[in-house]
Amino acid sequence: MMKAFTALPLLAALSAVNSLAQADDNWVKQAATAQADQVIEWRRHLHQHPELSNQEHNTSAYVANHLRKLGLKVHTGIAGTGVVAVLKGDLPGPTVGLRADMDALPIKEATGLPFASKAQGDYFGKTVDVMHACGHDAHTAMLMGAARLMSQNKDKIPGTVVFVFQPSEEGPSNIDIYADNAPSWGARRMVEEGIIERFGIQAMFAMHVTSDSHTGEIAYKSGIAFNSSDSFRIRLLGKQAHGSAPWDGADPIVASANVINAMQTLVNRRAKLTLGMGVVSVGSIHGGTANNVIPEEIIMNGTIRSDSAPIRETLTTQLAEVVSKTAEAQKVKADVKVVEMMPLTINNPDLTQALAPAMARASDGHAEEIANQRSGSEDFAYFAQKVPGLYVFLGQTPQGRDLNTAANNHTPTVYLDEATLNTGVRAHVEFVLGYADYAKQLKQ
Ligand SMILES: [Zn+2]
Ligand SMILES: [Zn+2]
Repeated sequence: MMKAFTALPLLAALSAVNSLAQADDNWVKQAATAQADQVIEWRRHLHQHPELSNQEHNTSAYVANHLRKLGLKVHTGIAGTGVVAVLKGDLPGPTVGLRADMDALPIKEATGLPFASKAQGDYFGKTVDVMHACGHDAHTAMLMGAARLMSQNKDKIPGTVVFVFQPSEEGPSNIDIYADNAPSWGARRMVEEGIIERFGIQAMFAMHVTSDSHTGEIAYKSGIAFNSSDSFRIRLLGKQAHGSAPWDGADPIVASANVINAMQTLVNRRAKLTLGMGVVSVGSIHGGTANNVIPEEIIMNGTIRSDSAPIRETLTTQLAEVVSKTAEAQKVKADVKVVEMMPLTINNPDLTQALAPAMARASDGHAEEIANQRSGSEDFAYFAQKVPGLYVFLGQTPQGRDLNTAANNHTPTVYLDEATLNTGVRAHVEFVLGYADYAKQLKQ
């Protein structure tokens, strides 16, 4: 650059002006790149010190301390360990919420990274290894980065930005969700505590890192972004007997086999499948001790997922009937509990279209709209039920690596390419800027 300046003064001066203008245009990119190393440092700290859902005490303190140092107004103890901070930009504009989840999973890390987790935690009374295997360390670090970037550039920030650091996205590690009057957790608890109204949030944004795309790439979908999720627990109560004389008892093991098969008829006989899809999966089944004893009880746990509210309704409300009547035919009693976990996560279509250019800018043109939702679920859904929401996916697999062989989230070897954090920080900021423009259009 300097060499060219000496050789061709006029041309170089022009191009310098041009690149200055460009640099100014791209101030977000510049500012994010300047602090990229720090975001990586925060992410490594968080990665090394993961905490289970609803117990993110140190994480919460770490985040709150960072936000206070930025000079933001910080609110702690939101929905338990949640933290909310508010930034007032110098320019007029709307109020938007940016959300990151902070919790980790009961998984033993096997990445071999120098900052791999050795942490343990209490998972329903059992000591377990804990790992940030869903990338919430990255989410938290990116939002910390966005908070820093915008705090240092208030003169360019329109409106108010509410930074929402949420606990317990993965479901609590310390609450029996099947207990009567079990408390809420995570996003639902935040919404029930009234954070949307309290902070006047008009729209909400969040993202998830994924091994399905490469570093620096953003994928988004208009409408349904994630399926709904509901959990169930079934207890089958029979009568204990000698394995040689089943006629003396009532066998909950045989009943469980019939119940599991009958459950599938909920999907393929009762759900109106023209409306979408649904699955009923049993994930655990426990019962019995010896080969020659028919046990008294079997306990099964499972999950129901769907991309259609009416199908969800059919599956969740009719499960108990199908299970109970099937078990009854074997003289076995069924106790069925279904707990609503997460509704469909729906990206507001107008908001999604309006913010598509912002996502393109954040990713230097590597944002694409995808056709299908993810089969998983997200409790961001609760925010998006209250105000227009946008939830996008951010690639974490290094460029050039085969996406088909990259370990997925929730596995011990999942790997996040830290270069992608920069794109994530930029996406948060671009959402704030883009939403302000969109809000102006809405007013006109
Ligand atoms: Zn997860
Ligand atoms: Zn996650």
